[in-house]
Amino acid sequence: MTGSKTIILLKNGTVLQHQSDDTVVSLPNTDILIQDNKISAIGSSLSFPSGAEIIDCTNKLVSPGMIDTHNHLWMTQLKARHAEHTLLEYVYSGGLQNFNFSPEDIYWGQLGGALESIDAGTTTVVDHAHMTCSPDNVDEAIAATAHSGIRSFYCYVPIVRYKSWNPLVPDPDILPNWAFEQLEGLAKAQPFGNGRVSIGFGFDLWFLPKELVVSKWEQVRSWGVKLFTTHYCKNHIFGLRSVPEMLRDYGLLKSGVIVSHATGASEEDGKILSEAGVYVAAAPEVEGQMGCGLPLSFRGDVPVALGADGHFVGPADIMSQMRLALTLARHSRNQKILDDNRFPAANIGTSAQAFNMGTIAGARAVGMESQIGSIAVGKLADITIFDAVSPTMVCAAQYDPVTAIVRHATIRDVATVIVDGVVRKRNGILLPISIKEGDMVSKTVSGAQQLSWGEIAQALMESRERVANKIAQLDIAAGGEAFKRLAQIDSSKLA
Ligand SMILES: [Zn+2]
Repeated sequence: MTGSKTIILLKNGTVLQHQSDDTVVSLPNTDILIQDNKISAIGSSLSFPSGAEIIDCTNKLVSPGMIDTHNHLWMTQLKARHAEHTLLEYVYSGGLQNFNFSPEDIYWGQLGGALESIDAGTTTVVDHAHMTCSPDNVDEAIAATAHSGIRSFYCYVPIVRYKSWNPLVPDPDILPNWAFEQLEGLAKAQPFGNGRVSIGFGFDLWFLPKELVVSKWEQVRSWGVKLFTTHYCKNHIFGLRSVPEMLRDYGLLKSGVIVSHATGASEEDGKILSEAGVYVAAAPEVEGQMGCGLPLSFRGDVPVALGADGHFVGPADIMSQMRLALTLARHSRNQKILDDNRFPAANIGTSAQAFNMGTIAGARAVGMESQIGSIAVGKLADITIFDAVSPTMVCAAQYDPVTAIVRHATIRDVATVIVDGVVRKRNGILLPISIKEGDMVSKTVSGAQQLSWGEIAQALMESRERVANKIAQLDIAAGGEAFKRLAQIDSSKLA
């Protein structure tokens, strides 16, 4: 932006507007006026100031931007490497390979992940950042997030770091001072990227003593961090202890918490989470691929939002997660009825519910429902515009726009994406990122410059090769066996 007010008119679209009861009404031939980073007017044939950029939305669906409540943006260079892996194989051959990423690799991976999400129509992401091997890694990741233009909660995750791979030797300093000093500085200096990038806290070290866990969470909260997130898959890899019970018993349900997956959650877990207003981030693609179990999306006892989680395993778009959440819920429920020699009289779940999981429920999960997640005057201009007449969308979009997005839309149909009042994708093409003097400083890209997607893709390919070469020099299987012993995984429970 040049300092003058950005004014955009979205002209003559079909606007999807949430009502107070969360139903979505589609308003045909409707304009939206965006001033600066907010929606300032919605109506037909709106008048607009001179100098406004006009985006013709004829034959387009104007939707709230998708909200991804669980992802790991840094992992772009690992795409396709874990396609056949279960959670266990992925953890040691993928997640734990973060030490093979230099800060420069982290910058490109993070930027690639954030832009992949924007391209897919996602405007806000909760980034479970388990790549905190060094302060430089964190600085590069936050700079890349800010440069990308996405709205993000960068959730700083204390991780177990390894001194060597073979033999696998964990660094005993699990909660190093430098990490918490850096987190304190970031928490007190936030937000970054013109207000788009906030600092959250990601935590998975539930094996640590209660007093230590509680004191760290309290400390982080005292620095002004408002969003906390944790993985919870009740199984023989991540453990059988109930994270919701620990959250309750440790007194940690005081502020915004997102529990990712919660597959295998008991009824008691569901009760704890729903009473505390805690959202589960369901990631059906990864949960199905990696042996985590059925998503909770349509169980009905917990509030659910959606996450792409492993953009290195499958598509980054939230529409895919909406679709898969519905399909898996119906498949598992209907199969039980078929096995009982009966036939389902009706399906469970609706496309409208799935749409809300990827929009307004995601906004509630991150505590921003008054600012994002729906289209309304005064809200932030985070908007995803779909082509309504593509071969995929035609006839579906005219019959029911919400169903068309959930059941039919692919990334190809995401025409234009606006985040915080700034157009980031136009007519199906990602726009270059623009790094200005005074932006978040990166050692990878210094000085004011524009970077096209082509240039970023080239840097990503070179970085991917560097990372792949480093991983290729390791005996991954040996490290994996050592990891199973360290994590006390019971081999008799592996099938
Ligand atoms: Zn995850």
